[in-house]
Amino acid sequence: MRGFKLLAFSAFSASFLSFTPINKKYIVIDAGHGGNDMGSVYGKVSEKEITVNIAKEIKKLNENQDQYEVILTRDSDAYPTLQERTAMINKLNPEIVISLHMNSNPEKETPKQGTEVYIQNTENSKKLAEKISKKFDVAKVEERNLHMLRETKAPAVLVELGFMNNTKDREYVTSEKGQKEIAQKFTDIIREY
Ligand SMILES: [Zn+2]
Repeated sequence: MRGFKLLAFSAFSASFLSFTPINKKYIVIDAGHGGNDMGSVYGKVSEKEITVNIAKEIKKLNENQDQYEVILTRDSDAYPTLQERTAMINKLNPEIVISLHMNSNPEKETPKQGTEVYIQNTENSKKLAEKISKKFDVAKVEERNLHMLRETKAPAVLVELGFMNNTKDREYVTSEKGQKEIAQKFTDIIREY
């Protein structure tokens, strides 16, 4: 909660205090889960840590430019509720919203691999998913009635970056190399907006 308020405040104060061009664009990266909500867990690895690490890496890669500002819904182990996240996002009115998650299923080790993208029922959400499909090995793009997608007014996608219970996916998304590559791919996509 405190993290959420701070972030929301810094986003707004930055836009008021700096010499913000009128056409300043916001890009929101939402790190799924946080706090007591671990997301899916495999051994010592939790979804909430993977998503925030990648979100922070995306923010870092986009710091030294003035085309747009990357705003994170959380940059610590906080848990803004889904309602708080979408309220903040709708106030910002960003160009796009990318919500980061990890997949899992009940199998101990799944042969399933790769990225899945869930979209809103809009052309712009679909277009964003297409851009993601060009960079990632996307196994599935599907419309889903999820809070983040339903309540966000801006074009949004929810990306499942791989399966927690697939060793290859898990090792990749938890490695420094994997996280940097994933963040770079999202940065390339963001730069098209
Ligand atoms: Zn999740």
